[in-house]
Amino acid sequence: MKRQEYLSWDDYFMAVALLSGKRSKDPSTQVGACIVNENNIIESIGYNGFPKGCSDDEFPWEREGDTLNTKYAYVVHGELNAILNCKGKDLTGCRIYVGLFPCNECAKAIIQSGIKEVVYLSDKYAETDIVKASKRMLNAAGVKLTQLEPEHFKIELSLDKSLI
Ligand SMILES: [Zn+2]
Repeated sequence: MKRQEYLSWDDYFMAVALLSGKRSKDPSTQVGACIVNENNIIESIGYNGFPKGCSDDEFPWEREGDTLNTKYAYVVHGELNAILNCKGKDLTGCRIYVGLFPCNECAKAIIQSGIKEVVYLSDKYAETDIVKASKRMLNAAGVKLTQLEPEHFKIELSLDKSLI
């Protein structure tokens, strides 16, 4: 008889998105994204960070102050990085898994790439204009919005040779 505790596709892809976020150098917000096609095959992953060549040690991670000295002028969000990382692959019909509801700029890229569903965990910025604009566009474009209710709230991994 097969194992019963295996991860559902939704929990699995959300966990991949969250694991990708662990690569982020951003001290305040780590957002990973995982793009999956209709056959449940991962097409791309990404996390928030500066563009290639823009040093994590030289560019600012600050959230406040003069625009040129904040991260907002430079950082690429996880969703956009995931879309760009697949190097022009056709993402029509795909879904994107993200921990946090996408911003309006990522919503534009999601719509234009042909992604048809956003699966997210948190919508903690729902009352901001950024998320309201994002939802307005995603709804107008017919992108399905699904807040995931995970079956597993904790997935633990240990990188310990003795476990293998
Ligand atoms: Zn964004």
